[in-house]
Amino acid sequence: MEYFYPELIPNVSTCKSPQQMFGAVAKTYYTDKIEKKKEDVVVVSIMPCTAKKFECNREEMNASGVKDVDYVLTTRELGKMIKQAGIDFVNLPDEEMDAPLGISTGAADIFANTGGVMEAALRTVYEIVTGRELPFNGLHITPIEGLEGVKEASLKIEDTKEEWKFLEGVTVNVAVAHGLGNAKKIIEEIKSGKKQYHFIEIMTCPGGCIGGGGQPRMTTDEIRKARIQAIYKEDEGRKYRKSHENPALKVLYEEFLGKPLGERSHHLLHTKYFNKKDENA
Ligand code: SF4
Repeated sequence: MEYFYPELIPNVSTCKSPQQMFGAVAKTYYTDKIEKKKEDVVVVSIMPCTAKKFECNREEMNASGVKDVDYVLTTRELGKMIKQAGIDFVNLPDEEMDAPLGISTGAADIFANTGGVMEAALRTVYEIVTGRELPFNGLHITPIEGLEGVKEASLKIEDTKEEWKFLEGVTVNVAVAHGLGNAKKIIEEIKSGKKQYHFIEIMTCPGGCIGGGGQPRMTTDEIRKARIQAIYKEDEGRKYRKSHENPALKVLYEEFLGKPLGERSHHLLHTKYFNKKDENA
């Protein structure tokens, strides 16, 4: 977007990636909790994504006052390190994640595949606006799941809560694309006026992060499908499947962030983008 379609930057969500949101929270809320100085804490992300190495070095990514994420290892690099160290990973006992921030949801699991961010967001938005669960197949928005390059879904909002009455009867159109060729296709259709959407999810890598550039090689569609199946199985087995139900997040907002879009959450969880078209020349 910054390099090829800067005129569309005002349409891009200002939400940071999960990596950078976590880094900013880790070096503020978490360091307060464990009574350490942020300068003494090192945040290392394990990512499916080589682009995350670039992202953590962006100048804006120091909302905590220091670099929010210090190092990024890809899953492929971590796998190599585990093998080099001779760790029998498969037979390691399972452990709970550390608290605070140690509870995860199904919505987070499905973030990793094409359509997953959209589905996770709609699970929460629909319920906040109507007070009911998404009227789809067990929370799954099937039209936007799967490996088709561009996917679409429409959903009519009815029987909203009082404060959301202005959305009553609105049909929300969403689209999902993965791979930059498909992203280009969808953007050109929007720019020409052929298509109109309220909410679009674009993932760079074919299949989404499950097929990311930092994942174990080689990635075929068969492997992508197996990984997608695995994350949906994780999602279905979770106690919490929607982000707004996550007890750790509720505590984070109560104790520290205040409210979504409040001053502190805006500062720590959101970012901005810049026109870099000239760097492209
Ligand atoms: S889709 Fe690819 S580039 Fe985008 S965050 Fe996932 S792994 Fe990184």
